[in-house]
Amino acid sequence: MRVLLLNPPGRRIYIRDYFCSKTTKSNYLFHPVDLVTLSGTLASRHETSVLDCMAERLDPAAAAARIDELDPEVIVALVGSVSWDEDRPFLANQAARGRRVIAIGDVLHEASEQRLTEEPWLEAALHVFSNEDVLAYLDGDRERIEDMTVRDATGAPERLLRLERKQRKGGFRVPRPRHELFPTEGYHFSFARSKRFATVLTDYGCPYPCTFCVIGTLGFQTRPVDDVLEEIDELRARGVKELFFMDQTFGVVRDRGLELCAALAERGDVSWTGYTRPDVADDEMLGAMRAAGCHTVMMGVESADDALLAAYKKGYKSSIIADAFRRAKRAGLRTVGTFIIGLPEETEASLQRTLDLAIGLEMDFMSLNMAVPRFGTPFRKQALDLGLAEASDLVMDQGGADAFLPTQTLDRARMVAMKKAMVRRFYLRPSYLWRRVTGVRSLWELGAQFREGLALLRRNV
Ligand code: SF4
Repeated sequence: MRVLLLNPPGRRIYIRDYFCSKTTKSNYLFHPVDLVTLSGTLASRHETSVLDCMAERLDPAAAAARIDELDPEVIVALVGSVSWDEDRPFLANQAARGRRVIAIGDVLHEASEQRLTEEPWLEAALHVFSNEDVLAYLDGDRERIEDMTVRDATGAPERLLRLERKQRKGGFRVPRPRHELFPTEGYHFSFARSKRFATVLTDYGCPYPCTFCVIGTLGFQTRPVDDVLEEIDELRARGVKELFFMDQTFGVVRDRGLELCAALAERGDVSWTGYTRPDVADDEMLGAMRAAGCHTVMMGVESADDALLAAYKKGYKSSIIADAFRRAKRAGLRTVGTFIIGLPEETEASLQRTLDLAIGLEMDFMSLNMAVPRFGTPFRKQALDLGLAEASDLVMDQGGADAFLPTQTLDRARMVAMKKAMVRRFYLRPSYLWRRVTGVRSLWELGAQFREGLALLRRNV
């Protein structure tokens, strides 16, 4: 079959992947990892193409024209709660043109039978992108499907079925992701050391239980290191040596993380950014990552408030975070702290403590995410119980352009104003700007950092 992997068009730059969606917080846009992973699976059996309307900045008319040229029989599309009001009409129009539409995204992650009932253009929903469900579905072999929502038209009325058969744990294999199908222009990654980069996934899901995060609900599986190296070697052969590892905690399976680092260090020509956790990032792991070409490490700080960290099951305290950032600096790595702000217990004082921590730890970048009740998370249930959100609220954004939730003491407007002030106070310190400028390695990087910084500040005036 002719199958198109589609990142649909939108009014703003949306990041829709891994059952999350948001507007970009500056200018960044990386390859959507769901489509990257599915590209290998689909291309192993079908004539597969990719259209990323975000990377190519296509408006709906231009996107529709490109799809007509490709003339797919099946479209596998990303959708997101951030863009649901735009995704629905665009994809419904494609279905009206006789194309089968299958979708994956946060907005379909919960109550998917209801979503399919409401959206007759949508043939089926994928709930995992690291398995062969899409192939089984296109083969018409429902027995092989592990987790999808499908229509059953054998009786009347039609029934919607959530086929959920397998706990995700252990290992998984996917055919080599076909990076070569993706556009070579249009992606930007704030921490990349060179223009061309690739997004690589070496594991799936997360073994931790942070209650606001959907990825912790997906199970946890790892890919064989040899498969990952095959993918990276193919990228290197095409001159792509800058990577973004999308694993949520690099090194969470310690021996495997060290094995991958040793293999990358042996190659000696790869540089990369990855996420890890403060309680995983000991000196040995950070040193191995640095030797393997890692230049930037991102760690979930979330909040400086130990009570908040405990309430949302982060599994560590702020003192552990502080130690990890010091170790990363010692290892010669740039550091990014990612935060979640605007949880119900958030106050002006807790936001101030969070900003003080970010500044005190001399982070190279501070990434603020607004709390949203993500589909499928324990926090969603809590927000609904507290009356902070409605089950019918399908459109939300954690990018920070708006606040979806008020806190118990801050209304939405105050929350947005506080978040913008935090961004300005962090990034507009003269000592910080000096560090940024003197830390770049090339003219390209200087330009890229300047553009990213400008885009970030424009969104936070
Ligand atoms: S916040 Fe990070 S560590 Fe926690 S569940 Fe999500 S991905 Fe895992």
